[in-house]
Amino acid sequence: MSDVAVVGGGIVGLAIADELLRVHPDLTVEVHDKEASLAQHASGRNSGVLHAGFYYSPDSMKARLTRVGNALLREFCGERGVPVRDVGKVVVTRNDDEVPRLLDLHSRGVANGVDVELIDERQLAELEPLARTHGQALWSPSTGSADPVRVVEELAARVQERGGRVLLGSQVVAGGPGWISTETDGYRPIGHVVNAAGLHADRVARWFDVGTEYRMLPFKGLYWYGDWPAGRLQRHVYPVPDPRNPFLGVHLTVAADGRAKIGPTAIPAASREAYSGVRGLAAGDLWGIARTLPRFLTSPHHDARALVASEVPKYLHSHLVREAAELVPSVRPEDFRVKGRPGIRAQLFDTSRNRLEMDFVVRSGPRSTHVLNAVSPGWTTALAMAREIVSSWPDGE
Ligand SMILES: Cc1cc2nc3c(=O)[nH]c(=O)nc-3n(C[C@H](O)[C@H](O)[C@H](O)COP(=O)(O)OP(=O)(O)OC[C@H]3O[C@@H](n4cnc5c(N)ncnc54)[C@H](O)[C@@H]3O)c2cc1C
Repeated sequence: MSDVAVVGGGIVGLAIADELLRVHPDLTVEVHDKEASLAQHASGRNSGVLHAGFYYSPDSMKARLTRVGNALLREFCGERGVPVRDVGKVVVTRNDDEVPRLLDLHSRGVANGVDVELIDERQLAELEPLARTHGQALWSPSTGSADPVRVVEELAARVQERGGRVLLGSQVVAGGPGWISTETDGYRPIGHVVNAAGLHADRVARWFDVGTEYRMLPFKGLYWYGDWPAGRLQRHVYPVPDPRNPFLGVHLTVAADGRAKIGPTAIPAASREAYSGVRGLAAGDLWGIARTLPRFLTSPHHDARALVASEVPKYLHSHLVREAAELVPSVRPEDFRVKGRPGIRAQLFDTSRNRLEMDFVVRSGPRSTHVLNAVSPGWTTALAMAREIVSSWPDGE
C-alpha cells in the first residue's frame, strides 16, 4: 500500500508530491495522471506568466501565495536550468474611466507586499515604447515568464529523484477514504489521497463528499502568436481588469522564447476538455454546464452578460487582435496568425452563493486533501501552495 496517491500530475499535484517527499522522505508517494504524457492540460496550456500578486484581495489565498510562489518558482527554475525571462509587466488604461481602477490595483499591490509602481506616459514609453496608456500605468518589475511545459517536466523529474512514482496513462476512475481504483490496475488501498485533478477536481472531491456545492464552469482561452522578431515586445502588457470577474482581459505577453503572444480569451466552454471543435465534448459536461450557465448569467455578483457579450466575439481573430491593439497600437492582424495551444480554466461556480469562486479552495476530507478551483495564478503559486498544504499535513498519514 502507498502512503499517498496524488490524482493529477499537473503542476499542483507534482508540487504537493515533491514537497511531501522533501519533508517526509520516508513516505511512499505515487502520482497518477490519465494522460500518456505530461502537461496536457492547464499546466502546459497557460500563458507561462509568473505573476507578482497585485490583483488579488489581500485576505485571499491568491494574495498570500503569489509573491512567495513567484520567488519559489524562480528558485526552482534556477536550480533546474529552466530559463526565466524577466520582462516585468505594465498595466495600461484604455480610457480615463479606468484610472481609478488602476489606482485600486496599485493599492492592492501595496497591501499585498508586492513591488508595484505608478508611472506616467513618459516612463511607460521608456519601459515599453509600443504600449499606450491614458495618463498613468502600473509597473510590476517582478512579473516574468517561463516555459510551463519545461517547468512541469522538471518537477516530475524531481519527484522521481526524491523517490516518488509518476504514473502516466493511469486514470483514477473511483476512490474514497483509504482507496482509489485505476483503469489499469483496479482497486488500490492508499493511506491518503490528494485530489489535484484540475478540470475534474470537483468530481473527485464528490467521491469523498467534499465541495458538493461546486459545479465546473469551464472557460476557454485562445492564443495567437506574432511573427515579430523576439524581443520586439519587451514587457507583458495588460489592461485594467474588471474586478467583478476573475479574468484579466486579453493581454500581450512575451513568451519564454521572446515571441509576442495575444490572449487568452475567457469564452465559456461547452466541455471540460473541448480544446478544438467537437473533439473533447462530453455529454455529462454539456448537461452540467447547461444547468449552471443560467445561474451564472443571472448572478448579481458578476457582470456576466457583459462578459459573455465581450468574450464571444473574440472567437473572431480580427476582433481579438483589435482588442489587443487598444493596448499596443502597432499590433496588426496579419502579424498574429499562428495559433497557440488553447487552455481551459477549471473555474468553479458556487451554487450555495450563486457566484463564481474567485479564490483557490483547499479542503480536507476523510483521509484526503482536495485542491479545487486551481485557476490563475495557480501555476505561479503551486510550490507555495504545496508548502502550505504539507506544513499542516495530518499526523500519522
Ligand atoms: C488559458 C490559461 C492561462 C493561464 N495562465 C496562467 C499564467 O500565466 N500564470 C499562472 O500562474 N497561471 C495561469 N493559469 C492557471 C494555471 O495554468 C493553473 O492554475 C494550473 O496549471 C493548475 O494546475 P493543476 O495541476 O491543478 O491542473 P492541470 O494542469 O489541469 O492538471 C490536472 C491533471 O489531472 C489529470 N487528471 C484529471 N482527472 C484525472 C483522473 N481521474 N485520474 C488521473 N489523472 C487525472 C489531468 O490529466 C491533468 O494532467 C492559466 C490557466 C489557463 C487555462
